Amino acid sequence: MADKKNPGKEDDLRIGVFVCECGLNIAGSLDCEEVRKYAETLPDVAVSVLNKYTCADPGQNEIKRYVKEYDLNRVVVSSCTPLMHEPTFRACVADVGLNPYLFEMVNLREHCSWVHLHDRKAATDKAKDMVKIGVARARHLEPQIEKTVPVTKAALVIGGGVAGIQASLDLADSGIQVYLVEKDPSIGGIMAALDKTYPTMDCSI
Ligand code: SF4
Repeated sequence: MADKKNPGKEDDLRIGVFVCECGLNIAGSLDCEEVRKYAETLPDVAVSVLNKYTCADPGQNEIKRYVKEYDLNRVVVSSCTPLMHEPTFRACVADVGLNPYLFEMVNLREHCSWVHLHDRKAATDKAKDMVKIGVARARHLEPQIEKTVPVTKAALVIGGGVAGIQASLDLADSGIQVYLVEKDPSIGGIMAALDKTYPTMDCSI
């Protein structure tokens, strides 16, 4: 673990990098400790840490501890797809007062270890590049404020063909006021011009 804590000016970047082994899911294919060591050499990285399972409670507690101890103002977790755990880690850093949008995630598992099972050296080199890119992205993150804005419960549907009519009916069934706009004098589109329709062979109108 690097110790480059430097309180410096308040707007200094202090990035914490957390490299997850995910048991053997990541550690089985690449050298996580080498990636962690590499991360601590990157500019603005104040600390880099290796976790067995970053999303588990002990891993999250480590993130919180390092954010406080190193006064981190950016966090990069190098682990898995953000689909599952981005909200987990955003909530985690928010818990210790960091804006959740100052968090960045690097997908080492799906984009590296799982697709490079048989070349540990190449996988490790690729993981380092991915972490470097994640740290570079983190440098440009800005805090975001989530806002709630009122919406008008109405919808404009353009085109009165079958798709437009069905969309309008579905929206109306959901309690939404619908304005259906059609350029022709009647609705139905191409469907209305058909003589017979499968499977009943009825007239379409
Ligand atoms: S954060 Fe992702 S990669 Fe790490 S242990 Fe959890 S599921 Fe596995």
